Amino acid sequence: MTAPNVLFLAIDSLRADAVFEPAPPTPNIDRYATGGAAFRHCVSTTTSTTPSFSSMLTGCYPPKHGVRGLQGYRLASSLTTMAEAFAAGGYNTHAEVTGPLLPQTGVLRGFADANHRQGYKVPFFEWRDSVTDRMHSYVNPWFMLLHIWEVHRPYRAPPDFTKRWDKAGYHAAVAATDEWLQPIYDACGDNTIVVITGDHGEDYPDTPLQQKLIRLARKSRKTLKLKRWIPALDQKFQSLAVGHGFALHEHLVRVPLIIAGPGISPVVVDEQVRHVDLFPTLCDLCGLDTPSGIDGRSLRPLMENGSLAEEPAYMEAVGVKLEGNRIVGARTRDWKLLRAGASKPALYKLNGGGSPNEKRNLYSRYPEVAQPLESFIAQVEESTIVTEDAPLSVEDEATIEQHLRDLGYL
Ligand SMILES: [Zn+2]
Repeated sequence: MTAPNVLFLAIDSLRADAVFEPAPPTPNIDRYATGGAAFRHCVSTTTSTTPSFSSMLTGCYPPKHGVRGLQGYRLASSLTTMAEAFAAGGYNTHAEVTGPLLPQTGVLRGFADANHRQGYKVPFFEWRDSVTDRMHSYVNPWFMLLHIWEVHRPYRAPPDFTKRWDKAGYHAAVAATDEWLQPIYDACGDNTIVVITGDHGEDYPDTPLQQKLIRLARKSRKTLKLKRWIPALDQKFQSLAVGHGFALHEHLVRVPLIIAGPGISPVVVDEQVRHVDLFPTLCDLCGLDTPSGIDGRSLRPLMENGSLAEEPAYMEAVGVKLEGNRIVGARTRDWKLLRAGASKPALYKLNGGGSPNEKRNLYSRYPEVAQPLESFIAQVEESTIVTEDAPLSVEDEATIEQHLRDLGYL
């Protein structure tokens, strides 16, 4: 058999439950999930776009790849990227990305051909058709990263495409995106491994009324300068923030991971897997050399009904640039430990992910669970690779900042 092509489809802000629960309907994605390996407990490394892609594309956690926020960081030049590994294996590499994934961040390193779409400015259908046309001219074997912005908030879905921020708006955006991607799937052909995931999850209010209250809280924090005058209330209002990037709740870190294609038998995997595992898995499936010293491992044994000993997942919430207020965490299928600055850590029982309790802090009650997770976090944090990268130039910083402004992050 000739080497398979690879489509790596990352739908921004796609939660696991949006794919694995009946609502919203996602028949196209479901077809890949039932025809290939469906990882129901995949954990994203961070809840912000650029750091998350950096982990997926290098198989490394942020202390190693160096992208600790949306702004002010560039991918460590010493690491091999997924595109570089595929190019070295004889693949033609293409990227069609959007949002904050600018070339200045270093995440597109290794792609022979990379196009960046300004998500809110270039209409989906026109762009999709030009991407589909380009796919028809790809030379085999090809590897393609496709980053979709249509599920990112504010949600703009049919029939009227007005901005929405609530659950119904999110579901409508997911369902519409699944349908709109049909021509892309059709362009893949049979000899293509299709990977589908979200770069992180999403938090949304259930109703438009809840959204109004959240907006009011945000406005009060700003205009009344609550942080200065009533810090306790400010903190309470801050915890109402929705979207993604500032926390590591289950719906923010649980993403779908589907790998389907030639030679991959249908299997549902309930073990916890991590975004850092994707790169070595694809190397394994496509016969490429896996870079040494990375944090992930091949999931192929789980795809072939074998087993792997559980390894914790390291996680970070970094916001746009949290300036030292980073939240770090470690997760297994049953437990999640979170640490934010100097405050007391939190330990939550996840009960296999099915009915997680993220309200009750069990840190003091289960030191024997907390301690190994804390050691694991410390070990990851110490794994920083010292590189001699030059800092981002003033021009590159300015370009990234302007894009973040356009996207509404700043
Ligand atoms: Zn994202």
